[in-house]
Amino acid sequence: MEYKTTLTTCPYCGCGCQFYLESIDGRLVGTLPSRTSPTNRGKLCVKGWRVHEFVQSPRRLRRPLLRKGDELVEVSWDRALDFAATRLREIRDQHGPEAIGFFASAKVTNEENYLIQKFARAGVGTNSVDHCARL
Ligand code: SF4
Repeated sequence: MEYKTTLTTCPYCGCGCQFYLESIDGRLVGTLPSRTSPTNRGKLCVKGWRVHEFVQSPRRLRRPLLRKGDELVEVSWDRALDFAATRLREIRDQHGPEAIGFFASAKVTNEENYLIQKFARAGVGTNSVDHCARL
C-alpha cells in the first residue's frame, strides 16, 4: 500500500488556498490544509475540505453532452464546439451580439478569464460578461 501527499492549490475559488491531497495506491482519500501557506494558514472552507471527492465521483461529467429532445447525448469535443460556434453565430446574426452573454468562472485562471472577456468583446461584440466570484 502506497500512501502519498501532494501539495496543490484549491481549484474552487480565487483565494488560492493550498492543501495536500492524500492518496492511497493512486486513489484520492483526503485533504489536509497546508499550515505554511500564507493564504490559508492551516484552514480551509467546507468546499476545500471536500475537494478530493469530486475527482473520482461517478457523477462527474467527463465528455460534452448535447440535448436531443428530452435526452442528453454524449458527443465528441469537436461536435460540441462546432454546435456551440454555429448556434452563437446564428443568435448573433438574428438578434445582435447583445443577445449573447458570457459567464466566466472562478475555477479557471486569470488568463483564461481574460480570454473569455476578450472573446466576448472582440470576437462576438458583446459587453455582457460576468463572473461567478461576484455572486
Ligand atoms: S478552500 Fe475554500 S476559500 Fe480556499 S480556495 Fe478553496 S474554495 Fe476558496
